[in-house]
Formats: sequence, C-alpha cells, structure tokens
Amino acid sequence: MTDVQFWIEHALLPQGWARNVRLQVCAGRIAAITADAARSEGDVHLKIGVPGLGNLHSHAFQRGMAGLAEIGGASGDSFWSWRELMYTFLHRLDPDSFQAIAEQAYMEMLEAGFTRVGEFHYLHHQPNGVAYDQPAEMSARVAAAAQATGLGLTLLPVFYAHADFGGAPPNPAQRRLIHDVDGFARLLDDAGRALAPLGDAVLGIAPHSLRAVTPDELTALVPLTRGPIHIHIAEQTREVDACLAWSGQRPVQWLYAHAEVDARWCLVHATHVDAGEVAAMVASQAVVGLCPITEANLGDGLFPMQAFAQAGGRFGVGSDSNVLIDAAEELRLLEYGQRLVARGRNVLARGEGVSSGRWLFDGALHGAAQALRVQAGLAVGASADVVELDHAHEAMAARGDDAWLDSWLFAARRGAVKAVWRAGRQVVSEGRHHQRDAIAARYAATLAKVLGA
Ligand SMILES: [Zn+2]
Repeated sequence: MTDVQFWIEHALLPQGWARNVRLQVCAGRIAAITADAARSEGDVHLKIGVPGLGNLHSHAFQRGMAGLAEIGGASGDSFWSWRELMYTFLHRLDPDSFQAIAEQAYMEMLEAGFTRVGEFHYLHHQPNGVAYDQPAEMSARVAAAAQATGLGLTLLPVFYAHADFGGAPPNPAQRRLIHDVDGFARLLDDAGRALAPLGDAVLGIAPHSLRAVTPDELTALVPLTRGPIHIHIAEQTREVDACLAWSGQRPVQWLYAHAEVDARWCLVHATHVDAGEVAAMVASQAVVGLCPITEANLGDGLFPMQAFAQAGGRFGVGSDSNVLIDAAEELRLLEYGQRLVARGRNVLARGEGVSSGRWLFDGALHGAAQALRVQAGLAVGASADVVELDHAHEAMAARGDDAWLDSWLFAARRGAVKAVWRAGRQVVSEGRHHQRDAIAARYAATLAKVLGA
C-alpha cells in the first residue's frame, strides 16, 4: 500500500470542484485533503482529477466471448440463445485461462476509469462438476487477476442450485455452478482466505436469481454474510412471466414480500418493474445495478429510470457481460435510452443548470460504492482511487468543471482517461495499463487455445 501526495489543479471532491487540491495518501488511503494549497516538491501533479468509479457488476470471463454472439438465427435471437453460447464457452475454461481473461477484463476496466469491480462470480467447479481440490480455486483466480492488475475487488460468490423457479434440478450445462447451502458456506470461508492478500477486498454473496435459488435457500443464505448481497432480478420478461406463474407475484414484488431488502442489497437489472416495485426499491435504499451496454446487447428492455430517479432511487452501473468495457459509455447509454423514450433531452438531471454528466457520475459513484461496500469519492478515509482526465484531449478544449464531465461522457470517444491510480499506486499512464503488453499477449494466446479447441 502506497504513500504518495497529489497536487490536483481541478479536483472533484464530495462538495464539488475545488482548485489546487493537495491529497495526502497513507497506506493507499486518503489521509488529508487541502484545497487552495501550494504545490510541494515531489507531489504528483494532475490537471483534472476525479474519483475512480465502481463497476458494480461483472462476469469477467465473458470478456473472452465478446463479439461472438452477434449472428442472427432464422427466427431472430434472444438472451436465451446467448446464454447457451456462454455455457459452451464456460466449459472450456480452466483456472489459467479463466485468470488470463479476467486480467484482460480488469486491465480494460482500469483504462476506462473503473477502479473497483463487483465480480458476480459463478464459475466454481471443474468441467465435470466436481469441486477443485481447493474449493475456492476459481475465486482465488479472480483475486489473482485483481492483484495482477491493481483493480479493487468486491467478490460476490454466486449461489446457484436450480434451473428454474420451484427448485427445478439444474441442467448439465450448469454443473460447474452448483452448490448446496453447506457447500457454499465452506466456499465463502475459503474465498475469504483467498482475498486476504489484497488488503482492501470486500466479500459478499450473490444468490444468482429467483430462478436458481429456492425461498428456503435464500433465507439460509442471507445470514452467511455481513457484506453486500447482489441478485439478478427481472432482467427478462420471460423471467417475470415464469415468476408470476410460480408465485402469483412479479420477481421484485416477490423478493420484497419474502426478504428484508435494505441498503446492503444490489438488485441487478430490475429491468421489468411496475410503479409499486419502483416505490419499494426506492424506500428500501437498495441500489439498482444497471448495465446499459449489456442490457442493450441482450435486448433486455429499458429500466424506468426517470420515475426511479425522480423518486430518489439509488443506482450504479456495471459492465456485466463485458461485451464492451467503458465507464463513460455505460453512463451515456443510460441517459440516451431514456432520452429516446422520453423524446426529450437531459431527462434524468432535473433542475435548472444541472449537468447531466455530473448527475450521472455522482449517482453512479455513490451507488456503486454502496453496492461494493466501500467509501465513495475523494474523501478522507477512502481509497486513493484517482482518475486523471486528459485536459489536452480535443473534447476537453476550452471547458471546465462539470463541462469536463459532460464532454468526457457525451463527446470524447476513448482516450479521455489519461492516468489512473488505485489505492495510491499508478496503474495507467497515457491511457495504457502498465502491464498491458504482457496481459494482452497472455489473453490472445489463451483465446487462441480456448476457441481453437
Ligand atoms: Zn449478470
């Protein structure tokens, strides 16, 4: 963990933009913040510094199949055919190939301005469904990928036991995913040990979905953690229909009727919700984990973000399938999806003079931090996760403060993220991760082997 001092000409602090800010970092955390400070010898000098953003939902290995599922069938295509391809890909991965792909994904996250990931990790067992000698082998590989790249990690080991509502037995394609509750509790213990070397990793749990977990199992899982609880929910209309047929309730409605959902929870997607479900989610202070690029790619549908935002709902973004890893594009697409539906502009940031970029960035920053169980922003006690925007980028010309955020999110293409520090350690310079060549070479060799097999 690193001791360093930054001097940032324009820094986005919790209270807003400040000038000539000195950040003192001890053991990777921000120890002191002084605005209007003089620059000292040895300070790391940044022009524009903003906090690193949390990526609250990822399946790292899916980066390796990005772009391979864009071929139509005779009757169109759907989420469910994508899932079949994903299972086929998943069965070819061993621990080494899994880690190589995760390193590539995590490197790209850092280059995009994400500094922590919530890894919704469900690939636990060997291809034949038998546990590895060390049950948390694959969790340890996630931790190793975070360690190798420097990305902050909130690990969410997934409990998966059934193929559908009502406790249907899992199908053979899901055998690498499956636990009973006791086996999962042992996995959590092992995973906790695997995270220890990272220093500031967080461990939570992820009941996969209401399809994959029975009500009794859900009740048994919640007390296994004091960390965050993430669940996929209401992503597809087919899932909503199946939940109604099984229980008479919609997925989010069912969850709130049967579990104490509070600020520890992150409801991933929650795409198909009615007004009552929106109100319940807002009141519970749970975070809704939106994954705009993946939801668009999979044709999930559009979350009612305007109603949710107006009611003060908490949200963050995740790169989910990692078909494209770009923090700015997640926020841009979140806003654009709503503009297309509302046929209006700046539809989420309400109020005279409020910047959409600032509203989206602040909301996603705080929501992701809550969902990943870390302190948000450039604040004393928080991890020194700092992103430098490139003041010399064309899109930043003759702009300042919130207009930099607007221009990064809406106008910049890639390249606006110049440098990234994670826990005070620089991991990206001139837009490139320091280990880029080695990680990318390993990734290419791994995919040649996995996809050539
Ligand atoms: Zn997911």
